[in-house]
Amino acid sequence: MIEAEGLTKFYGPRGAIRNVSFEIDKGEVVGFLGPNGAGKSTTIRILTCYMPPSSGTARVEGLDIIEDSLRIREKIGYLPESVPLYKELTVRRFLRFAAGSKGVEAKKIRSEVSRVISACGLEKTANREIGNLSKGFKQRVGLAQALLNNPSVLILDEPTIGLDPTQIIEIRRIIEELREDRTILLSSHILPEVAQICRRVIIINKGEIVATDSPANLTSQLQKTATIVLEVSGPSAEFAQALENMSGVQKISMESNGTSKFEIETDPSVDIRPEIAALAMQKGCGLLELKKMQLSLEDVFMQLVTEESTVEGAES
Ligand code: ADP
Repeated sequence: MIEAEGLTKFYGPRGAIRNVSFEIDKGEVVGFLGPNGAGKSTTIRILTCYMPPSSGTARVEGLDIIEDSLRIREKIGYLPESVPLYKELTVRRFLRFAAGSKGVEAKKIRSEVSRVISACGLEKTANREIGNLSKGFKQRVGLAQALLNNPSVLILDEPTIGLDPTQIIEIRRIIEELREDRTILLSSHILPEVAQICRRVIIINKGEIVATDSPANLTSQLQKTATIVLEVSGPSAEFAQALENMSGVQKISMESNGTSKFEIETDPSVDIRPEIAALAMQKGCGLLELKKMQLSLEDVFMQLVTEESTVEGAES
């Protein structure tokens, strides 16, 4: 479990995050989403006890980030944005070294290293030097390092940054397998990634939390109008006129090119598709397409980060 309460951080006079509060329950996988410079890494560095906040508090598994920082470091698996790897070591040697420094008991190091090697699909690369691995495999080594000691809380900062699509799918699959019984906070500036892995998203912009909800709820809350796409056979002025007069319709645009295509903006609280279908039948128009457009998380994100207020002095 992670609890952040009013976290604020200044770098000199510069405000990086302000009054950041959220809770992540055990077993939840939460996306921490925001554009570059929003304050994701700053928040994560505070939660992982790499630096203290200017004010505010946070607890990880009930332990205070200031008073119990050493115990928290043992409990957390942390994948930083750029993983410090020893390039001249083999994967296995590096992981043995990391296990030792993470407090894994000497007699358990061998089995613990084998466990994380297998969890991250590193069996075939275990005896290769890290410096010779592709970026995707280096990222797996970083993830394997984070999994040593079987932490109940995983904090992953931009885990797929710089990877190609195949590597992204692989890392995503590994994260999916890790979700059971763990609290995972995953930061990203890439929306589809967060929408695919996380059931809840915390959006941060210019140092402040601007929304926290499931991707689906965020989308529906921000949807001020719903758009219906309609295509009927043949041109029909009478049908278009009747559509315009239908209750619930706010705006219509039409394009005729053999068939008639409409984009209809409506009140999102009512679904008028059944009435539209009935009208098409009544006017003798063949119904070719009738669907409701969904606002993507990308649209929601853009709406949030362009509408909300800013932290004074923070970078835009
Ligand atoms: P993100 O991880 O979302 O890209 P960061 O937490 O890295 O954002 O940065 C938040 C803000 O703090 C930015 O304005 C950034 O320029 C500033 N910042 C980050 N690290 C430092 C630092 N070490 N010294 C001064 N300013 C910093």
